Amino acid sequence: MTNTKPLIVITGASSGFGAEDAKLFNAAGYPMLLLGRRVEKIRELPLNFDNVMVAAVDVTDQTALAEAIHAAETKYGETDLLINNAGVMLLGNVQRQDPKEWQTMLDTNVMGVLNGTQIVLPAMVKRHHGTIINMSSIAGFKAFANHAAYVASKFGVHGLSETIRQEVSNYNVRISLVAPGAGETELLTHVTDAAALKDYEAWKETMGGLTMDPKYVAQTVKFIYDMPQEVNVREIDIAATRQDS
Ligand code: NDP
Repeated sequence: MTNTKPLIVITGASSGFGAEDAKLFNAAGYPMLLLGRRVEKIRELPLNFDNVMVAAVDVTDQTALAEAIHAAETKYGETDLLINNAGVMLLGNVQRQDPKEWQTMLDTNVMGVLNGTQIVLPAMVKRHHGTIINMSSIAGFKAFANHAAYVASKFGVHGLSETIRQEVSNYNVRISLVAPGAGETELLTHVTDAAALKDYEAWKETMGGLTMDPKYVAQTVKFIYDMPQEVNVREIDIAATRQDS
């Protein structure tokens, strides 16, 4: 099959926002590289896999990430859109939380984004074309109790995104960021602190017990990408209407 559309790489495509991104861009006919550690979940997604490559990659391993991206580029051409979506949120009070959980969040949410960016950015700069969309969070510009290390990681994503945007804007490369509010994904399932989880669930009840459908975040990502290359929607803050914070 000949592809006229360019390659899209999505990290963390096995669930949540990344899986919804994959469905939307697949329906639009883009060749894709879908990454995650649980590849069986990616293979179960309702996609046309004709022009999809799937690889088991941990975004904290830059060598493995680069190998997977280069293999996809050999088949589909250079990456035109990287969605740095993979992330973890391990809620916890900083006085009690195991520092290993802070490390996991900083490694995945910050280093993972930098790792992917460094792999695709030089070629984008060289050809004066390309887009990187980073999944940050409302926790990337405001604080939430029991989110200290997560907030630190997402403030990091905001900071690095704006820095790199300034560095490459003159090369016609777009660095963009989506800052979602709470969404119905698997994000909370990895939290080990029962008290922090209870507080989160109580907060969720204040918005009727249901947070944002991840499909709207995917539509936002696609809207950003679909703008002409000379327009960069730099940042979007999107949340359920009933989310008050
Ligand atoms: P999910 O838990 O549903 O999805 C997270 C994805 O990240 C999974 O596909 C997971 O895949 C992947 N992932 C996690 N760690 C790694 C790793 N080390 N290497 C590769 N992939 C990894 O959560 P969401 O869809 O909600 O999260 C997506 C992004 O959105 C995250 O960056 C999150 O911080 C952000 N976000 C989420 C919000 C929410 O309320 N849901 C709100 C604001 C931002 P696998 O486990 O298979 O590796």
